[in-house]
Amino acid sequence: MHELGIMTGVMDAVEKSARDAGADRVLKISLSVGVMTEAIEDSLRFAFEALSESEYTMCKGAELDITMVTPRSICSECGHEYAHDRYHVACPQCGSGLTHIIAGKELQIDSIEVNIPDEDDEPENA
Ligand SMILES: [Zn+2]
Repeated sequence: MHELGIMTGVMDAVEKSARDAGADRVLKISLSVGVMTEAIEDSLRFAFEALSESEYTMCKGAELDITMVTPRSICSECGHEYAHDRYHVACPQCGSGLTHIIAGKELQIDSIEVNIPDEDDEPENA
């Protein structure tokens, strides 16, 4: 299972973005994960929970939103574009194995929501 490594990388990137934005806490992380990465959604969630529990992190308690992306390929022989799963990559139209994956290998952070603390309390004598 390589989900722990994936999640470690995701959380590093998320925390860096959050810090750069002046946030003190991450509220929500939205990810797109291609099925061809072989990452399993449940394992990603499990890894996230383990990582956000076991050490001090800005991601503690954050909501994790995962979109699994169905693989799509284009056939180099006949130009057919089609969706498929991890195991059936060949062109369903002509049977060619010369295909080019156009979706399903992504591993990207779509968005994060953070909490930015109020720096200045309401000034009384402004
Ligand atoms: Zn084809």
